Amino acid sequence: MAEISEDQLRRRTRDLLADVDPAEATQFEFRGAQFDRGLARVDFPEGKGGLGLSPKAQTVVDEELRQGGRYWHDLNVNPIGIGMGGPTVLAHGTEEMHHRLLRPMFTGEEIWCQLFSEPGAGSDVAGLATRAVEDGDEWVVNGQKVWTTLAHVSRWGMLVARTDPDAPKHRGLTYFVMDMTLPGVDVRPLYQITGEAEFNEVFMNDVRILDSMRLGERGQGWHVALTTLMNERVALGGGVPARGSGLIGVLTAAWEKYRDDGGGENAADAVHHRVLRDRVVQLWAETEVLRLTNWRARTLASAGTPGPEGSVGKAVSAELNQRIYECLLDVVGPEAMLFPEGYSMERPEDSAFSSFGSPSPVRGFLRSRANTIEGGTSEVMRNILGERVLGLPKEPGVDKNTPWSEIPRN
Ligand SMILES: Cc1cc2nc3c(=O)[nH]c(=O)nc-3n(C[C@H](O)[C@H](O)[C@H](O)COP(=O)(O)OP(=O)(O)OC[C@H]3O[C@@H](n4cnc5c(N)ncnc54)[C@H](O)[C@@H]3O)c2cc1C
Repeated sequence: MAEISEDQLRRRTRDLLADVDPAEATQFEFRGAQFDRGLARVDFPEGKGGLGLSPKAQTVVDEELRQGGRYWHDLNVNPIGIGMGGPTVLAHGTEEMHHRLLRPMFTGEEIWCQLFSEPGAGSDVAGLATRAVEDGDEWVVNGQKVWTTLAHVSRWGMLVARTDPDAPKHRGLTYFVMDMTLPGVDVRPLYQITGEAEFNEVFMNDVRILDSMRLGERGQGWHVALTTLMNERVALGGGVPARGSGLIGVLTAAWEKYRDDGGGENAADAVHHRVLRDRVVQLWAETEVLRLTNWRARTLASAGTPGPEGSVGKAVSAELNQRIYECLLDVVGPEAMLFPEGYSMERPEDSAFSSFGSPSPVRGFLRSRANTIEGGTSEVMRNILGERVLGLPKEPGVDKNTPWSEIPRN
């Protein structure tokens, strides 16, 4: 911690809890006050939601807020905004953007989405085709994005577009903050396996974005996008929840509720019981290892953009999450064949994020299948780990220096 002790930080958080009446204040009011006191993201600079401290100091604040009963998980409030948009705007945006965008992002008044993936560009997102053409002090954007989580409730989108098709693919991109209410932005739902439509297709037809909403230099969009992607991995896989809480807490609670007395007279049940208990304990231990690994990473991290090691937590937590849900269904037993919520084709109107830790076993199980795809697939995480953390030989980049316009595509 830089110039403020842990005790002082605790006191500052308790003062917030004492001054902003938890019974009266709404989420927006409370989190607005939290932002103004530098307790939103303590690693951000003063006046911008932080205190310029090390990221690990946030755990002290969060602990106090949890105890005070006023803790909202950022992944529930504005997952893409707080986890990825905030650090990107801070690192590459102007002062004006910081002051306009960060506070309502943190409170959840303005939800954000990520406009990266396209039908022809997912893992290879640098190959994207959405075009932005400069016209005076504006850019005219045409193209299509896909899998855009929460676009239907978003005020802002992080858009990467191709501004120089004749440059190699990584060098011809530019990054914008797009107002999702602009004329020409068309958001259409994509229904998923759970019955909800939490993500969308986004079509842009002659959307005019002011040049002042450009993040970073022209042609530097890939560099800016890496800030988003590195933070995305940490946001998805780098959590340090209280021990035994979250999804693993759901599993252990289910175990308590559904376990029998050890199988009684029935030998087969007894074996099943022991095997299941062994799986529950194994998953608890693995969750704890991940939690402590993330804790250690957070302790070592300095402020700024995280490095490629964020891929470790993302890959491990995605696969662990899936295995916990698989075990949860086995613990619940035949009841897990039912889906009481049904396929009601809901369109979540708030930003509640079902990805990590849905309390409904069946819905959570279904949703968890996406964990190893969203935010970069597990194969891609392993490539990053191999190449950038372990220093193994790189995949051949056959089109790396070829102008994007000359790369063959369907
Ligand atoms: C629930 C969910 C939410 C999402 N939300 C968003 C969002 O808000 N915004 C957004 O922009 N995108 C979003 N995405 C898109 C996501 O980032 C992409 O789906 C992901 O990057 C994979 O891209 P793809 O689907 O095009 O698959 P592809 O890239 O076509 O991959 C297909 C398969 O090939 C494998 N593969 C590809 N390249 C390699 C390689 N080099 N080495 C080894 N294997 C490889 C992949 O691992 C995968 O198994 C979301 C996806 C999901 C599932």
